[in-house]
Amino acid sequence: MKIKIIPCLKDNYSYLIIDEKKNIACVVDPSEADPVIKYLDDNKIDLKFILNTHHHYDHVGGNKKLKEKYKANVVGFKGDKDKIPEIDILVDDQEIWKHESFEAKIIHIPGHTLGHICFYFYNNESVFTGDTLFSLGCGRIFEGTFSQMYESLKKIKRLPHNTKIFCGHEYTLNNSKFCLKHDQNNKYLKDKIIEIEKKLKNNLPTIPSTIKEELRCNIFLKSENIKTFSKLRDLKDNF
Ligand code: ZN
Ligand code: FE
Repeated sequence: MKIKIIPCLKDNYSYLIIDEKKNIACVVDPSEADPVIKYLDDNKIDLKFILNTHHHYDHVGGNKKLKEKYKANVVGFKGDKDKIPEIDILVDDQEIWKHESFEAKIIHIPGHTLGHICFYFYNNESVFTGDTLFSLGCGRIFEGTFSQMYESLKKIKRLPHNTKIFCGHEYTLNNSKFCLKHDQNNKYLKDKIIEIEKKLKNNLPTIPSTIKEELRCNIFLKSENIKTFSKLRDLKDNF
């Protein structure tokens, strides 16, 4: 199983989870269809499923075109069945979604939106966190409450430390500056920033991160209580 990062729009990432034996794939959060189609067709891969973490346009924008072209099924949270375009398969919190060689646990992580979920592909030690957990940051709270977001991040924190994190946007560099401002003596963070700058200079994604690195460096995950977390989240909105 291989995970291919597809940059979309300005700073979004869509991801292809590819079964290389069968040449089939799932796509996570196709912001737009064309870059996904290009990779699939160049590599003669058939798309089977479209997985959406939440209903925002920059995560579902490619649903319709991809579904039409490949007859793929759209998978999304049952609570967002009226918001996710072309949805076919409704999934719920803690459910195991399994098809062909693809197998993921659905975890409901409200806060950014009320129906936000992540797809935890445990056999691949990978989690797709959409706009809830970013590398060195977390999503803005649009529909939920601070406390929902805080609890959602806690759920992600409990995943095994070697789990790779694939998030919805390339926000890492800006996030790193905010973390450093509030955590100036963190040597893990400083080392990570050097790595981030190197990758970006070479036009490479800073993704994936890991749970282990985020626990050490992400100031939102390091917040020990909801009060600190909420204060940081507010400050970040105007950073
Ligand atoms: Zn979003
Ligand atoms: Fe987004």
